[in-house]
Amino acid sequence: MSGIFSKIAQGQIPSYKIAEDDKYFAFLDINPLAKGHTLVIPKQEVDYLFDLDEDTYTGLWTFSKKVAKAIESVCPCERIGVAVVGLEVPHAHVHLVPINTVGDIDFSRNRVAMTKEEFAAVAKEIRLGFLNL
Ligand code: AMP
Repeated sequence: MSGIFSKIAQGQIPSYKIAEDDKYFAFLDINPLAKGHTLVIPKQEVDYLFDLDEDTYTGLWTFSKKVAKAIESVCPCERIGVAVVGLEVPHAHVHLVPINTVGDIDFSRNRVAMTKEEFAAVAKEIRLGFLNL
């Protein structure tokens, strides 16, 4: 049975999509630490990042780099912080978070409240940024 992130990648569950190719999918985190907080997943459903095969693993980081550049081009920030947690959803994923201080990527802090319209607008901007890389 497919997990929630596989269903998102297959379009069975809606998401604010940022980018995809045949192996990877990027979408906004629904409970973001910052505007533009994005998750990047391999379409292959493997729970633990370090269990991915070498090609899928290195490809995930290459794809994440492109997504990070697109976020950077849209969300004003010092840099894009990267985290891998995976305690909530058992499908390997990289968190890309626009940050200005180390506290901005503290997963125990309050998340940012965003309206559907704000999610849709920032996703559209980052999507365009990705296409223009
Ligand atoms: P973790 O597995 O600990 O890295 O956390 C999973 C992340 O996935 C959290 O930041 C959630 O807000 C996010 N998340 C869970 N369900 C969804 C969803 N349906 N769409 C987007 N993000 C989600």
